[in-house]
Amino acid sequence: MNTQNIKAFGTTAPDADLKELRIDRRMALSNDVEIDILYCGVCHSDLHTARNDWGGSKYPVVPGHEIIGRVVAVGEQVSKFKVGDLVGVGCMVDACKTCESCQKNLEQYCQNGFTGTYNAPDKHLGGHTFGGYSEKIVVDQDFVLRIPENLNTAAVAPLLCAGITTWSPLRRWNVQKGSKVAVIGLGGLGHMAIKLAKGLGAEVTLFSRSISKIVDAKRLGADHVVISTNEEEMKAVKSKFELIIDTVPYQHDINPYMQTVAIDGTLVLVGFIGEFDENIVSTRPLINQRRAVAGSLIGGIVETQEMLDFCGEHNIVSDIELINMQDINQAYERMLKSDVKYRFVIDMKSLKN
Ligand code: NAP
Ligand code: ZN
Repeated sequence: MNTQNIKAFGTTAPDADLKELRIDRRMALSNDVEIDILYCGVCHSDLHTARNDWGGSKYPVVPGHEIIGRVVAVGEQVSKFKVGDLVGVGCMVDACKTCESCQKNLEQYCQNGFTGTYNAPDKHLGGHTFGGYSEKIVVDQDFVLRIPENLNTAAVAPLLCAGITTWSPLRRWNVQKGSKVAVIGLGGLGHMAIKLAKGLGAEVTLFSRSISKIVDAKRLGADHVVISTNEEEMKAVKSKFELIIDTVPYQHDINPYMQTVAIDGTLVLVGFIGEFDENIVSTRPLINQRRAVAGSLIGGIVETQEMLDFCGEHNIVSDIELINMQDINQAYERMLKSDVKYRFVIDMKSLKN
């Protein structure tokens, strides 16, 4: 297969820094769109994968699944996009398109496994896929999104993962005007959850460990902030929330939050925090108030486009810090300290120079 050799940024081992390296991309096949990458958001999943937190990482890891760029070439069968279009790519670049999940526009739950934008088996070139910390990407048109032109382009990038991952549970649990929604953790996903829930008309509460984030949370649209380490504040919101979106990336005790879920309410986990035991979630609060704990994975392509269009109409983007590619290692250290306001986005010009 014809390939092109391009610049990327990645890591060759869990404990190594990310650095410049070169990768191969396929030339656009008949159904492919070739995208010149302008911006790429930095998700906590990038860090988890680079450092093999979840096991199974394949090296070199080239992370990045919040990709914005311009179409520079299209295959002869491509009808959805043309050269010059502003487009996005999120966490998936392919799926089987035929299973029940794919038929229902739930490619993220493809029964045959979707192809992740990075660190998934590459069906075309062998080896594994490389993400958006790179000059270009070549993607099947069915996994490419249209980006509203009225928004700040760099600040749209995080919608492709942080946005859709919080939008999908908001829609699945039918959040609407007046719904009582809470978000745990004010990071990349958390700040998008606040903006999107607010956009849907919900009454939004943030649970945070950090008193220093109260002012920002309100600016971002939270109606209330509860400091999760303060028992009195936690008691005051007992049985209040119809939906809680928990964005904490590391293992933590969910039980105090379960007490704040309303009858028939649900706490949705989006961080992969490992196995359940009673120190994480006990059954009593679930049974006593018919509460549920659920998980949710990104969102389908149709749903992602719906979210992007909604953001275009409501002028919703991420709050970002634009960085150069070469600053990624410091950015990861700051992300670990929850010192990001509220998503790093890489200006890909810095890699191309
Ligand atoms: P992030 O920007 O680092 O934000 C996480 C927030 O959680 C922090 O800002 C902090 O908020 C809180 N937090 C961090 N460590 C904590 C701890 N030990 N205990 C309690 N709270 C803690 O991360 P992100 O990019 O939003 O990603 C969040 C998680 O979602 C990651 O695990 C990521 O891999 C996962 N993810 C899942 C999906 C999916 O499809 N399900 C998609 C994307 C990402 P406060 O300072 O306010 O407490
Ligand atoms: Zn992500």
